[in-house]
Amino acid sequence: MEEAELISIVVPMYNEEGNVRPLYEAIVKEFDELWCTFELIFVDDGSSDESVATVKKLHDTDARVKLVRLSRNFGHQVALTAGLEAARGAAVVMMDGDLQHPPALIPDMIARWKEGYDIVYTVREETEGAGFMKRFTAAGFYGLINRLVDTHIVPNAADFRLMDRKALNCLNSLRERNRFIRGLVSWIGFKQYAMPYTAAKRHSGVTKYSFTKMFAFAVDGIASFSTLPLRFSAAIGFVAAISGLPYALWAIYLKLFTDQSVSGWASMVVAVLFLGGVQLMTLGVIGEYVGRIYEEVKGRPLYIASETVGFDHPQASTDS
Ligand code: UDP
Ligand code: MG
Repeated sequence: MEEAELISIVVPMYNEEGNVRPLYEAIVKEFDELWCTFELIFVDDGSSDESVATVKKLHDTDARVKLVRLSRNFGHQVALTAGLEAARGAAVVMMDGDLQHPPALIPDMIARWKEGYDIVYTVREETEGAGFMKRFTAAGFYGLINRLVDTHIVPNAADFRLMDRKALNCLNSLRERNRFIRGLVSWIGFKQYAMPYTAAKRHSGVTKYSFTKMFAFAVDGIASFSTLPLRFSAAIGFVAAISGLPYALWAIYLKLFTDQSVSGWASMVVAVLFLGGVQLMTLGVIGEYVGRIYEEVKGRPLYIASETVGFDHPQASTDS
């Protein structure tokens, strides 16, 4: 019989103390019936609660549980990246730590992987208890991003997916700082399978994505995959210039060839304010991209791991 393959499960967690154990138990239950072994890698993203202690306690009784502890809160996407780099499995499953991503789907994902799919991603059909705002903003975001971006971003794709080792290595080789993982995964291609699921309610605790974090996430997604906002800025400038031209010609004509003068305080103020606004806005758009260039050229490591538990290979603490 061939040796059981190792599946890595990567779970970023930020103050998820109440969810660690239930998630672990659910995963153990799924793997009981599978011909695979697993390692369960929790990435602590600077939690201030008992998450780390809970994971360590689990590790003491079950060495399949491992921990990468980041030195502070680096954000969900970077925490996920840290876990993906520590994973050693032939395939890796990434999922949230709040049991919104049902572990019961993992056997199906593995089955698809065995069929030859390199990436099995999941598409959220409906979230129990998701408010109108979350649905509305999500729909708006995916509508906008797919209009702006060349890489197709699947609406409602979650960061709950299985990736084969070779696809994962490609993902790990993308070193950009502003990580919008669902976009990167779609960008690398490979044979992908879409699996619908119904997201459960958060098991314990509250969401770690505030409105501002979601907004930043959306801006990251668009700016990392498209330069259309820059072109759009140029287009606004062009339109403003073109539409101002007839008015300017008319004013010059009146001044030179008639004895009327253009009475224009109001229109001037309106024009100045309008153009000032447009200029500041486009500067902001340019700034958004310049800031990203600055972030990239500094070349700092993506994250710093202050501690790892359960890995036999020493994890480089300043993986870049
Ligand atoms: N998370 C993280 N760092 C953060 C924010 C979130 O590691 O700065 C983790 C969080 O613990 C959870 C996952 O990312 O496992 C998804 O977050 P959450 O459930 O709060 O987001 P939502 O499901 O509400 O979009
Ligand atoms: Mg959640």
